[in-house]
Amino acid sequence: MKEYFGRLYSNTSKNFYNALYNNLKNAHKQFIITANPETFMKAEQDQTINKMLLDDSVTIVPDGIGIVKAAKMLSFDIKERIPGIDIANKLLEYGNKLNKTVYLFGAKEEVINSLKKVIKKEYPNLKIIGAKNGYEKDRDKIFKDIVKKEPDIVLVALGIPEQEKLIYKYLDKFNKGIFVGVGGSFDVISGHKKRAPKFFIKTNTEWLYRILREPKRIRRFYDSNIKFMFKISKIK
Ligand code: UDP
Repeated sequence: MKEYFGRLYSNTSKNFYNALYNNLKNAHKQFIITANPETFMKAEQDQTINKMLLDDSVTIVPDGIGIVKAAKMLSFDIKERIPGIDIANKLLEYGNKLNKTVYLFGAKEEVINSLKKVIKKEYPNLKIIGAKNGYEKDRDKIFKDIVKKEPDIVLVALGIPEQEKLIYKYLDKFNKGIFVGVGGSFDVISGHKKRAPKFFIKTNTEWLYRILREPKRIRRFYDSNIKFMFKISKIK
C-alpha cells in the first residue's frame, strides 16, 4: 500500500496542468490515473492494477480527498486534489485551443450523444474522431479502433478499474495520446448529472454529495473508503 503513495504526483495542480498542456501540444504520450481509495484497495488484490500503479511511465494524481488525507497521515507531501472531471474539462479546453483530436469511449448512448453536442458547441476546434458508448460487449474491438485512429486525447468513462486496465492493456500500441479514465465525468459534462454544488467541492465533501444523491453508492464507499482508512491508520 505505502509504495502506491510514493508514486503520487506531489506538485501543485497548476504545475500538473502546465505539463499536461505541453504534453498535448508536443504529442508526448501520457497515461493519467486519477487515484482514489478504491484504486489503491483494488490494486492490492489485482496484479494488473498493482503493476500499472508501480509503472514509472504512468502519472498518478490524487483524485479523492481520502487519498490526500491518507498521504498526509503517512507523511507524504501531497499538495491538493486533482479531480478527474477537472482533467477532462481541461483536456477539452486545451484540445480546442490546440486544434487536436479526441476519442470518447464510455457512458450510455444518450450521454455520449449529448456530450458530442456540448463539445461541438463549446469546443468547436476539437475534432471528435470517435465516440462509442460503454455498453457494447466487445471493448477490445473499440480499443483497436482507437489504436487505428491515433487520437491526441482519449477519454475512457467505464468506471474504476476497468477503464484503467483497458487503457494499460493497449498503451504500448500508441505512439502519442493523453489517456485518462474519467469515471462519471461524461454524465456530468453532458449535462445528464449535476456535479456537486460549490460548497461540497470547496469543503472536499463531493463524495458525501454523491452518496446523498445515489444512496446505492454507500456499499462501495464502505468497501473502499472506510476499510481504506482503517488500513492507513494501522500502517501509520
Ligand atoms: N459505464 C459504462 N459501461 C459499463 C459500466 C459503466 O460505460 O459497463 C459508465 C457509466 O455509465 C458511467 C461511468 O461508466 O458513466 C462510471 O461512472 P461512476 O460514477 O460509477 O464512476 P466513478 O467516477 O465513481 O468511478
